[in-house]
Amino acid sequence: MDVAIIGAGIAGCAVARELSRLSLDVVVLEEGYDVACGASRSNSGIVHGGYDPVPGTRKALYNARGMRMIPGLADELGFRYSNNGSLVIALSDQDLPAIDVLAGRARANGIEGVRRIGADELRGLEPNVNPCAVGALLCEGSGICDPFGMTVAFAENAATNGVTFRMGARVVGASRRGGLWDVALADGSHVEATLVVNAAGVHAIDLHNQVSSDRLASRPRLGEYVLMSRDMHGAFGHTIFRAPGPKGKGVLVSPTADGNLIVGPDAVDGIGPDDTATTPSGLEWVIEQARLTWPAFDPREIIVNFAGTRPCGADGDFVIGEPADAPGFFDIAAFDSPGITSAPAVAVDVAAWAAERLGARPDPAFDGHRDMPPRFLEMGEAEREEAIARDPAFSHLVCRCEQVSEAEVLAAIHAPIPATTVNAVKRRCRAGMGRCQGGFCEPLVVEMLSRELGIPIQDVLLGEPGSEIAPLTRGEGRS
Ligand SMILES: Cc1cc2nc3c(=O)[nH]c(=O)nc-3n(C[C@H](O)[C@H](O)[C@H](O)COP(=O)(O)OP(=O)(O)OC[C@H]3O[C@@H](n4cnc5c(N)ncnc54)[C@H](O)[C@@H]3O)c2cc1C
Repeated sequence: MDVAIIGAGIAGCAVARELSRLSLDVVVLEEGYDVACGASRSNSGIVHGGYDPVPGTRKALYNARGMRMIPGLADELGFRYSNNGSLVIALSDQDLPAIDVLAGRARANGIEGVRRIGADELRGLEPNVNPCAVGALLCEGSGICDPFGMTVAFAENAATNGVTFRMGARVVGASRRGGLWDVALADGSHVEATLVVNAAGVHAIDLHNQVSSDRLASRPRLGEYVLMSRDMHGAFGHTIFRAPGPKGKGVLVSPTADGNLIVGPDAVDGIGPDDTATTPSGLEWVIEQARLTWPAFDPREIIVNFAGTRPCGADGDFVIGEPADAPGFFDIAAFDSPGITSAPAVAVDVAAWAAERLGARPDPAFDGHRDMPPRFLEMGEAEREEAIARDPAFSHLVCRCEQVSEAEVLAAIHAPIPATTVNAVKRRCRAGMGRCQGGFCEPLVVEMLSRELGIPIQDVLLGEPGSEIAPLTRGEGRS
């Protein structure tokens, strides 16, 4: 093997896709049963405008480069992205100096389209924003994306260009032997590779510390959210941030690329790397903060809450590259926000370093294009008729809330990176993402997974290893 990538989050999948341009043997080792099992599926989905990172840091460099790449990548790879712009609002004159600091960073980071606006212009742009707001920083370049869909897009394009994905493959260690890296898996097997890309998210620092004496500290930081119904999507056009405080960018209110409205996150330190449980007190705080931005916030429109863990390091910057004492082991660690935005640019650099080390040549068969899977919900009448004529499975609705057809669920299950769990189906085609959160469609998806994968119904997983769903319908029981 030329390259073993540990972790199929946005970082690992973006690198995999870049490496698939080259004639190399590449494997992605992912401990979960799907891509994006960590932070890449539980975040705000903002393509950050590049005015926040401290100038001169890796975050500043990669944020600026990544945000410029994403619109083109969204077209090429078929994932949802919208250039909706962002506003950092000042609720009082005391917030204005913090906004000026961000404007200064924008200039230093080479970001265009960032300017202070007054209260009248703000209210013209966003009538639902708190009428007490005295002004805002407008950033025209920022956007929103579907971070899970973006990760799937990188992964599927990498897979169709020859990268192997091994799911359920937890890496427990790596050591250098005879010029190669010996990567040990939890099941006792080993993968030998010339180079390793360590993109293990919140566990990347642990793996780094196994191979290097330059030890890093890991400071996982939880962020809790509430997601609002589709009916709330139009409440704001821009992503609305508050002027930053000591805990970062604070609670945002933003439309999502999938048509909901997201509110959050908070920032909770002192948690374990795999803690993603929400707490009543955390969610109450998020709602309280959201009301400061949006006084008309209506909690009855919340359809679900969730949390993600930021893979933060000690000094606040990304750790990208090879430790001096571990040649051929490339870290993408301490990769917290703006990691979604930065991943495409980081991947270009990491793949270029790997190509140089391996003397790799371009693969003439590389095809960088991927079509976005069609959504019945988004089709017009004529398109729907055409789709049903082509494939009658478009006429069977599986999920009523999100109008997801059987054809879309089947396409997800048989995709280049197959959706093999209920959550994987849900995140790809949104069956179960609506107001009833799968109350109607989950048994149907379970049956389809069982049928299409040829496995007993009691072996169908919700998501993680060990999450079998006991059949609740039609009397089937565990034997
Ligand atoms: C609350 C929150 C809000 C955020 N908001 C934004 C935002 O708006 N915009 C933005 O740009 N960024 C945002 N981020 C940051 C962004 O989500 C992360 O930077 C990015 O997702 C990290 O990607 P990753 O691939 O490094 O890690 P992950 O997505 O965590 O992926 C790592 C993968 O490695 C796997 N893995 C871990 N250990 C092992 C192992 N030992 N063996 C095999 N596999 C392993 C995991 O299962 C996982 O799938 C946010 C993050 C959080 C948590």
